[in-house]
Amino acid sequence: MSDKSINGRDPITPSKVASYLKAKVSHVVQGDVPPHVFQDRKDSCLSCSFLVVDKADEIGFCGKCGCGRADGARLTNKLKMPKVSCPEGRWQESKGQKA
Ligand code: SF4
Repeated sequence: MSDKSINGRDPITPSKVASYLKAKVSHVVQGDVPPHVFQDRKDSCLSCSFLVVDKADEIGFCGKCGCGRADGARLTNKLKMPKVSCPEGRWQESKGQKA
């Protein structure tokens, strides 16, 4: 059986919900990561074969993480969040500017 749901999207799992909440809370509590961290993450994504380019913003989506294509999953948003990391290990969690 495929790990995709019948509508072709990755299924929402408890671990994905937990990761999303952890990322959102870290962003609310700690704020954006420092600009140099955002830029380093962005540079990694822009040179990555998993990047899904989207005309609506300057970066796009990660095709590896399984977060889908909602606005909250846009890399322009995700890369600012402290407690997120690249599923391929190309960049790690960081601290926000208010931490
Ligand atoms: S988060 Fe990681 S795997 Fe996804 S596009 Fe960026 S560098 Fe590639």
